Amino acid sequence: MNVRIIIMILLFSTSCEWNQFADKIYYNGNIWTGNPNRPNAEFIAVVGESIIGVGSNHKSFKGPDTELIDLDGQFVVPGFMDSHTHFISGGFQLMSINLRNVAGKDEFISQVEDYVKNIPSGQWVRGGDWDHEMWGGKLPSKEWIDAFTQDNPALLSRLDGHMALANSKALELAGVSKETLDPPGGSIERDTQGEPTGILRDEAMGLIWPMIPESSPDEMDTALEKSMKYAASLGITQVHDMCNWDDLETYVRNKEKLSLRIYALPYYTHWNKHKAFVEEHGYGDNNLRWRGIKAMMDGSLGSRTAWMHTDYKDDPNTKGLVVSADTLELRNVLREADESGIQFAIHAIGTRANEWILDEFKAIEEENGKRDRRSRVEHAQHLLPKDILRFYHDGVIASMQPAHLYDDAAWAHKRVEDDILKGTYAFNSLIKSKAVLTFGSDWNVASLDPLMGIYTAVTRHSRDENNPNGWYADEIISVEDALRCYTINAAYAGFQEDKLGTLETGKLADFVVLSNDLREINPDDILNTKVVRTVVDGKDVYVK
Ligand SMILES: [Zn+2]
Repeated sequence: MNVRIIIMILLFSTSCEWNQFADKIYYNGNIWTGNPNRPNAEFIAVVGESIIGVGSNHKSFKGPDTELIDLDGQFVVPGFMDSHTHFISGGFQLMSINLRNVAGKDEFISQVEDYVKNIPSGQWVRGGDWDHEMWGGKLPSKEWIDAFTQDNPALLSRLDGHMALANSKALELAGVSKETLDPPGGSIERDTQGEPTGILRDEAMGLIWPMIPESSPDEMDTALEKSMKYAASLGITQVHDMCNWDDLETYVRNKEKLSLRIYALPYYTHWNKHKAFVEEHGYGDNNLRWRGIKAMMDGSLGSRTAWMHTDYKDDPNTKGLVVSADTLELRNVLREADESGIQFAIHAIGTRANEWILDEFKAIEEENGKRDRRSRVEHAQHLLPKDILRFYHDGVIASMQPAHLYDDAAWAHKRVEDDILKGTYAFNSLIKSKAVLTFGSDWNVASLDPLMGIYTAVTRHSRDENNPNGWYADEIISVEDALRCYTINAAYAGFQEDKLGTLETGKLADFVVLSNDLREINPDDILNTKVVRTVVDGKDVYVK
């Protein structure tokens, strides 16, 4: 036998027995790996950013310099991946004032006053989320806040976004006075003298918006920093971000500081810039990628703009609408992006919008040929029975946000008939049909907390507490299925199932330690569960 071959065999056989020593071993855990071949384990051994061992006996990975971290029997799952965020907008929301729980005039005034003390003169006061029903229905007025906001223009929205309170400084900048006429589709609330009170309804808020300066790169960086810190505290190790171009620029600028992975899917209207960027830089790497585009077919159920097959129950004059003003342009961009290997993530809420985009995905496949596209429908909220089956058959991913159900279940029956609601948030039907279902939050529109999403998916409880046994309970799924939707299915939805989504040797070390085993507890206690530790790329990014 050739000497070289003998040496190779020797090297090979020794390397099989030889374990590399770990930099760190997280041991004594109750680990759900998500790997069907080895679902449970007690330790994770890590070198650099990679997992080199998962199992029950860590001894062979322990070297003289290995750091040992006792998990104290706590529950460990692969890092949560949120498949649908507006991450930097979320950061700005964290930076703005939150009046959601304010219960009266005095509290409203003192909270705004405290907030203004801590921001520089000239900076806009944004946010709000106030609800005047909390204090008997009297609307706030500019006089409540004018005394301490002379140097800070303010526009504070009501929680539904359909009205806002402007202070005198903001009205002055926008030139809104007694003489200003109500704009079409909006109204300016006035006192008995005809003077604006500060309350602006719908399109009247648009009088102020052009006055609000665009965010500077520094402000964008700060918003990202806030979002990342918050996400780490919730166990989130990656987001699929439906974003604008300046968001992607912010990620690129902060690439070395990212404490979670970002898969950016810029809006399709940026396609020309995006295309040039892909040609120059490829699709990105494990930490930051930009391989997809986002587009929108329709609106939302709440505003009766989700595009349905039938008229709305509470407005027989509409079936909703197509948002993309120029569908032809959208169709052209999709075809061109497909040639560049780009993934689609298309917002579709209504039954007709979902059918339209599923047809469109099929048409693109017929025109451009079969390949591993993993096209995604974002929301996939109301589906006809025939379309539920198409997700698996056509290889389309359903990217859904269970926490929206928590809000919608209280009033959705007012908008649409029971037969439509049977195909609404159809988690279990999609899983049973073998479709890939992935979960996200839609933060900042809904809560970023993955535990809130899991809780809603496994209980189908609603905010109004009228569905103690679950809203359309046939669509309840198990905790493990919900976990898969936040981990391995999300990894698949981002073309990363070979590197992420389960805890196994060779994958990247992203995981989260929780205070409760979600599989064992009463589902109501999911919301009382705490994130104890978040690890991204083998590094602790959050420790409670
Ligand atoms: Zn969204």
